[in-house]
Amino acid sequence: MSDLAIASRAVLKPISEIAESAGIPEEAVEAYGRYKAKIDPALLTARGVKPGKVVLVSGISPTPAGEGKSTMVVGLGDALAASGTKTMIALREPSLGPIFGMKGGATGGGYSQVLPMDEINMHFTGDFHAITSANNLLMALLDNHLHQGNALGIDPRRITFKRVLDMNDRALRNIVIGLGGPTEGVPRETGFEITVASEVMAVFCLANGLEDLRDRLGRMTIGYTYGKAPVTVDDLGAAGAMAMLLKDAIKPNLVQTMAGTPAFIHGGPFANIAHGCNSVIATNTARSLADIVVTEAGFGADLGAEKFMDIKARYAGCNPDAVVLVATIRALKMHGGVAKDGLKEENVEAVRLGMANLARHASNIKKFGIQPVIGLNKFATDTDGELAVVTEWAAANGIECAVADVWGQGGAGAEDLAAAVLRAIEAPNNFAPLYDLDQPVENKILTVVREIYGGDGVEYSAGAKRMLEQIHANGWDNLPVCMAKTQYSFSDDPKLLGAPEGFTLQVRDLIPKTGAGFIVAITGAIMTMPGLPKIPAAMRMDVDENGNAVGLS
Ligand code: ADP
Repeated sequence: MSDLAIASRAVLKPISEIAESAGIPEEAVEAYGRYKAKIDPALLTARGVKPGKVVLVSGISPTPAGEGKSTMVVGLGDALAASGTKTMIALREPSLGPIFGMKGGATGGGYSQVLPMDEINMHFTGDFHAITSANNLLMALLDNHLHQGNALGIDPRRITFKRVLDMNDRALRNIVIGLGGPTEGVPRETGFEITVASEVMAVFCLANGLEDLRDRLGRMTIGYTYGKAPVTVDDLGAAGAMAMLLKDAIKPNLVQTMAGTPAFIHGGPFANIAHGCNSVIATNTARSLADIVVTEAGFGADLGAEKFMDIKARYAGCNPDAVVLVATIRALKMHGGVAKDGLKEENVEAVRLGMANLARHASNIKKFGIQPVIGLNKFATDTDGELAVVTEWAAANGIECAVADVWGQGGAGAEDLAAAVLRAIEAPNNFAPLYDLDQPVENKILTVVREIYGGDGVEYSAGAKRMLEQIHANGWDNLPVCMAKTQYSFSDDPKLLGAPEGFTLQVRDLIPKTGAGFIVAITGAIMTMPGLPKIPAAMRMDVDENGNAVGLS
C-alpha cells in the first residue's frame, strides 16, 4: 500500500486534543481547520522543568529516494511516547520542489507518518507562501529603488539576492529583468532560487522570536554599491514590511503522527544548499513542552548534522543529547558499488564494502563529542545476512545499533531503537562544535573538508577568492560556514560514493548571509535552483472525483 493510501485510512484526533495532550493551553492554539494549528509560544505556561533533551536524527549519504530519516523520526517519536516518555517531534515543512520532482513528499512513510499528509505536503498553513512573499517583496523594493534613482548607489551587477519560488524550475536560474525601456525598470541579469535555499528561510529558522527575526532580516546583505560597500535590508528600509508578512508564519505548526504523538512542522531549509533543519522556535518550543524532542537534520550527517551542530546548536543552544544515524541496506549496497536496478537482490559483500560510508559518518559524529546510535531502517527486501553485516560491525566497534521496522509497524517497530536512544541520552556527552569561530573562513572550510568529508584540500575559483577578500575586509570572518554540496557523496562529485579520500573540494562561490549569520560556500556543480528530472513525480499525480489527492507519496 502507498504512503498516501495508508495515511488516508488513519483516524485523526481533533488538533485541540493533541494540543491538550502536549500541555498546550487552549488560548495558545490557533486552529487551521480541524487537524492543524499554529501555536503561539508567548502564550505557553512554563513547566518549571529543564528543557527537553534533543535527539537528532541524521543519516548516511542517501540515494535519490531518501533513506527514511523522516520516517524514522516519526517511528522513534511514537516508540518513545509509547514507552511513557513525554515526547514531541520537530520536522521541516516539505518543499514542492522535491514533491513534484524526484523524491516525493516529506511526511514520513508507511505506518510512521505525520498527518494530514497531503495538506502538510501542499500549502499547509501558508508559511512557504509568506516566506516567498517576504523575499520577493524585498526584491520588488530593491528593483524599484534602482528605478527611482538609486540613492544608495547600488551596483545592479553586484546584487547577490534573488527572487524565489517553491518549485524546481531550471529555466529561471538565469534571467534578465527590466527590459522594455525607461518605464519598465533597470535591466539587469539575475535569477530565481528555490524558496528553501533563500536567506529569508534561513533567518526564519534561526530566529528565536519576532524581534530577532526583524533584526536578522535587516542585517541581510543584498548586494554592493559601486564603491563595493555592502548594502543591507535595513539600508533599503524593507525589514519592517518583511517581518509583518511573517508575523503569523513564525508561530510553529502543530500536527499529529498516526499514533497521536504531537509534532511541530515548521520551516524547511534544504540541507545541501542551506542549513537543513526546522525552526529554532519549533525545536525550543517543543523542548519547553516535552522531555524528549526528536528532530531531523536533512540528507547525510556530513551536511544536515554538521550544520545542526556548527550553526543551529551554536546559535540556539539546542545541543543534541543523542544522534541517530539512519542507514538502509539498499544505500549501503549502492555505496558498495551496486547499480540502482540491482539493489533488491541480496549482496552481502556490497553491504560490507558500503559500510565505509556509515563508518565515516559514525566517526564524524564522535568528533562532536557524541556517541552515535545506528538506526537500521528495515526494508522488506533486506536479508538477515545483509542486516547482520551492520549489526556485527556496530557490535565490534562499540556502537549501539537497532534494526527498526518503523515503515511497516510504526512505533512498535522501533522499541529497541527507543531503548538504545534512552541509554545514549544518559551517556556522557561532551558536545562541542567542530571549529572555533574566531579564525578565517578558509580555515573553517578546510576543517570541515578534512575532518568531515575526508578530503585533502580546497580550491577556490577566482570569484570565490575575490569574495574571501570582501569577507576579510567587512569583518565577516567570525561567522560559521554553511557548505552547499551534493548530498550523494562526501566529496563535491555526486558519483564518488562510499568513503572517498584524497580529493580537493572546489569552492565556486562564497555568499555571505549576514542575517542568518553564516557564509555559504557553493561547491562543485550544486545549484540553488534545482531542475526537474526527465519523468517528474508530478506525472503520476492527480485528484479523484471526491477531491482526494492521488499519487502523492
Ligand atoms: P528521508 O527523510 O531520509 O529523505 P523519508 O523518510 O522521506 O526519507 O522516506 C523516503 C521514502 O521512502 C518515503 O516514501 C517512505 O515511505 C519510503 N520508506 C522509508 N522507509 C521505508 C521502508 N523501511 N520500507 C519501505 N519504504 C520506506
